[in-house]
Amino acid sequence: KIRTRYAPSPTGHLHIGGARTALFSYLLAKQQGGDFIVRIEDTDTERNVPGADKKQMDMLKWLGIDWDESVDVGGPYAPYRCMERMDIYNRYIDQLLAEGKAYLSYATQEEIDKEREEQLARGEAPKYSGWDRDLTPEQRAKFEAEGRVPSVRFRVPEGQVIEIDDAIRGKVKFETDGIGDFVIRRPDGRPIYNFAVVVDDALMKITHVIRGEEHLSNTPKQVLIYQALGFETPQFAHIPLILNAEGKKMSKRDESIIQFIDQYKDLGYLPEAILNFLSLLGWSPEGEEEIFSKEELVERFSLERVSKAPAIFDTGKLKWMNGQYIKKAPLERIVDLALPYLEKAGRITLPLSDEQRAWVTRVVALYQEQLEYVAQIVELTDLFFQEEYKVTEEAKEVLSAPHVPEVLSSFLNKLDTLETLEADTLKDIFKQVQKETGHKGKQLFMPVRAAVTGVVHGPDLRESLALIGLETVKSRLQQQID
Ligand code: GLU
Repeated sequence: KIRTRYAPSPTGHLHIGGARTALFSYLLAKQQGGDFIVRIEDTDTERNVPGADKKQMDMLKWLGIDWDESVDVGGPYAPYRCMERMDIYNRYIDQLLAEGKAYLSYATQEEIDKEREEQLARGEAPKYSGWDRDLTPEQRAKFEAEGRVPSVRFRVPEGQVIEIDDAIRGKVKFETDGIGDFVIRRPDGRPIYNFAVVVDDALMKITHVIRGEEHLSNTPKQVLIYQALGFETPQFAHIPLILNAEGKKMSKRDESIIQFIDQYKDLGYLPEAILNFLSLLGWSPEGEEEIFSKEELVERFSLERVSKAPAIFDTGKLKWMNGQYIKKAPLERIVDLALPYLEKAGRITLPLSDEQRAWVTRVVALYQEQLEYVAQIVELTDLFFQEEYKVTEEAKEVLSAPHVPEVLSSFLNKLDTLETLEADTLKDIFKQVQKETGHKGKQLFMPVRAAVTGVVHGPDLRESLALIGLETVKSRLQQQID
């Protein structure tokens, strides 16, 4: 049975790269009826942010990615939080120490830095020399007496080649001679990621380790630990980097891309659109189709179709895709999403009466086709909420045409007989004005649009006028006639 995992460090918000890793892991497991596990890798305690694990998991759920085992639901291999697994790590560290595959290293940070600087000065690639691999009991006692607290280092075997058969990158070779003895447990007792991840993946019976390509260089170290502990290595799959539109590796500070899932949620992106978009960052389906539901992705996903080449994050495409999903969504759902933005902008007060809700629903409906994300509703619907309205230069030009006063006056006259304004009645009114003035089409509609909305483009004119309301429409027409 396939078992995959996503193993976030709780150091911040759920990043698009992390969400993609989680998604690919989830899809692979679900496709084959396997299990997907979320494990919290919190051993870098100084970088942990309180509550970040919960927030990240909430965002995964929001995206539609759920798990079979984790810190909240438990599971047969609990605990799923590394800091609660210290005993387990220590057991395996003791085993490596007893077998001589690891050793207590007394080097101080200054000694380590000094060695590194000397190597760099000689033009060598820095690598821990392992000078304290085989201390005598006397040397050890002397260091202890000095108050040095040892870390545990893994004894890297010399002259070996580690070959990784990666599901995406193919065969990748590393020479152990390029790897210095590395720390697996800090002096304070916390294991290093490269060690903990192996113990956890092995004991949790993870079959496929899917993670970002930036971890590829860690993999030979992990393979050495798998071998030393007599564990079987999982299938590794290193998924390509995500680059920004300029083809550069994005940094956390890159402002050309919104990088965290909760920011998309806050802007009114739909989770299924983001999921769909993330799936295409490195994976490509057969055929031209690009819009897939989660269920379709589960069916179609395969590691074979994940590319080695970096994925480009195309914000325009994400907006387009989200727009597609908004278009297809039930109007009521978009209205529900829109309300908080309108409230925050001071446009409405919640809760709405039925009548108000009906009105807002019609306003939102005018823009459902055009929204890329729901937060845009505020700027788009300006004209329905502003008592004062600005008339753009373009609109002024339209209004300066000689036939305009005649059209507006005729239109206003017809309105005087009405009590409310409805789209249907407006159809007749436009017809009457056309007859009366002899102007039709653009000549007729543009002046009315410009006069009432102050702009020359916008959604359906009759529905817009109906929603702006009789009194406002009349007063604006009057204003332009005077
Ligand atoms: N905690 C690591 C990270 O957040 C996980 C790496 C892995 O999947 O092995 O990058």
